[in-house]
Amino acid sequence: MTTKNSQELFDKAKNYIPGGVNSPVRAFRAVGGNPLFIKSAKGAYLYDEDGNAFIELINSWGPMILGHANELVEKAVADAIQLGFSYGAPTRREVEMAELITSIVPSVEKVRMVNSGTEATMSAIRVARGYTGRDKIIKFEGCYHGHGDSFLIAAGSGAITFGHPDSPGVTKGVANDTLTAPYNDLAAVQTLVDANQGQIACIILEPVVGNMGLVKPAEGFLEGLRQICDKEGIVLIFDEVMTGFRLAKGGFQERCGVTPDMTTMGKIIGGGMPVGAYGGKKEIMDCVSPAGPVYQAGTLSGNPIAMAAGQAMLTYLNEHPEVYERIETVGNTLTSGIRANMQKLGLNYTLNHVGSMFTLFFTDKPVNNFEDAKSSDTALFGKFFNAMLKRGIYMAPSQYEAMFISTALTDEHVAQILDASYESFQEILA
Ligand code: PMP
Repeated sequence: MTTKNSQELFDKAKNYIPGGVNSPVRAFRAVGGNPLFIKSAKGAYLYDEDGNAFIELINSWGPMILGHANELVEKAVADAIQLGFSYGAPTRREVEMAELITSIVPSVEKVRMVNSGTEATMSAIRVARGYTGRDKIIKFEGCYHGHGDSFLIAAGSGAITFGHPDSPGVTKGVANDTLTAPYNDLAAVQTLVDANQGQIACIILEPVVGNMGLVKPAEGFLEGLRQICDKEGIVLIFDEVMTGFRLAKGGFQERCGVTPDMTTMGKIIGGGMPVGAYGGKKEIMDCVSPAGPVYQAGTLSGNPIAMAAGQAMLTYLNEHPEVYERIETVGNTLTSGIRANMQKLGLNYTLNHVGSMFTLFFTDKPVNNFEDAKSSDTALFGKFFNAMLKRGIYMAPSQYEAMFISTALTDEHVAQILDASYESFQEILA
């Protein structure tokens, strides 16, 4: 496989862009290589600047549930472009989108559109603080909620991949207001709540974590958080930027039956366009300006092109339950196939899986929190990643990320991924 053009572009990029990339994990540094520069994508494939094709397991970090350049979304965008790109004024589509989202996501009675997952989570905790009149928040070690100051404490995803879970540049004051607990540890949460009586505005978490690799909530964990929040008047926020409209139409909250007070959503609701949203109970959302005093705004919020893409995508998902059956089946087939391959080779790595998301951790210990995830052999992960890439499979370039399945994956693609995984295991063992 030649990657000459990507290498040239990366060398040039490093002169003009910090680290040569606009988002850290893309740099492939954790897997010891140079990033591939992508020229186009269609269906299940990514195509790079050297003409190599890769079967996709990242799907723009989640949103391309229907595969790349889906015709419906493409047409919606092409039609919308004829009508102008941005007005900074309300549109019919925003109302229709809000109506659609509130009809699908159990916790959301009112919703505000923003431009990224980061904006959604930053805004949501501001609203929770404004609503409760309290300053502190609880987050979980290894969860990632975008790059807002409050969240760059024990953060997952690229922050841990690059060894900066607590980022310089975040003031002590902000850091002091973020309390952290190990994921799946209800007792630790209770201890924090007891020690900070009447001071905690919200608990925010990924109901299934994607950002320390995939970690599932333990039996009773989400229910326990719900009870603590109800008792203490704390706002429970599910960050469903990755899991919303993916693990079930209404997000993981629909699947697990625990309803948060607020929900943050991201890239999926823009069909891949730059979009985020936060929503929740009416009485909480009515604190947001101009209905209430908590300020939050955006020139490009509810952008007509992004709304057109999102509306096409969400309408399709809403009307086609078979999408969820399909990605669930592929998730099961892929993960059981990888397990079978490991068994044949006498390997016992931990494979965590929920629906259409999974992570293979290079450790034989169960992974239920950040400490467990960190026991993975990241160098071995890097070897496996490169062995898969060489065989045309594009995985997330870090141990601390999840893989995402789209409906564009056919049974044949699945067989190719499984063959590649068998050969890659053999290669890294050799
Ligand atoms: N929350 C979660 C759970 C995420 O996974 C991400 C990004 N992957 C974000 C928030 C931030 O979203 P964005 O990158 O769009 O700012």
